[in-house]
Amino acid sequence: MKKRRLAIVLDTRKCIDCKACTVACKTENKIPLGRETYRNWVSEGPLRGEYPNLGQSYTPGQCMQCANTPCDRVCPTRATWVNDDGIVVVEDRKCIGCKYCMTACPYNARYYNEETGAVDKCTFCIQRVAVGEIPACVETCPTKVRVFGDLNDPESEVSELLARHPYRVLKPEIGTEPFLFYLM
Ligand code: SF4
Ligand code: SF4
Ligand code: SF4
Repeated sequence: MKKRRLAIVLDTRKCIDCKACTVACKTENKIPLGRETYRNWVSEGPLRGEYPNLGQSYTPGQCMQCANTPCDRVCPTRATWVNDDGIVVVEDRKCIGCKYCMTACPYNARYYNEETGAVDKCTFCIQRVAVGEIPACVETCPTKVRVFGDLNDPESEVSELLARHPYRVLKPEIGTEPFLFYLM
């Protein structure tokens, strides 16, 4: 069977900054409370439109599940590695909390979890994907900003979206080959 390459496509024009995705993620993944502990975020983007009809844009983000991963290359214990679906994972029991991977990630997508003593990040909700469910943030978003699926399946919704629409990735110039795609 062909390997999957899981990805998320985002239509940021639909984002209303409600932060339901961040609440859903914290709940699903038992992330400690606080502003410094998170697997996803919503940041303010540029203003949209033309004066006087201007509106604020928002850009949700999370680990980009990069194909060229600076984070796993620096890990001295191999606690962080890439699975067959292209998901970059961290094994808590192997992580010594050195934080090298936090420094190496150009997207600031990792945080240190005081409760587990390990670095943590988005895993595309690997525990849900394993039983055929979609990630919590994808399911919860009221305006359906995120679409999740397999880019190795040409008939998946993510493949069709990228075939039909122009898109961008964040920081393409650094060569990390992210698998979060933002429709333009
Ligand atoms: Fe690693 Fe950061 Fe890329 Fe995620 S976004 S795979 S943590 S370099
Ligand atoms: Fe590896 Fe953990 Fe160190 Fe990150 S903090 S580089 S996952 S041992
Ligand atoms: Fe959090 Fe799961 Fe969404 Fe990643 S895919 S940001 S772990 S809810």
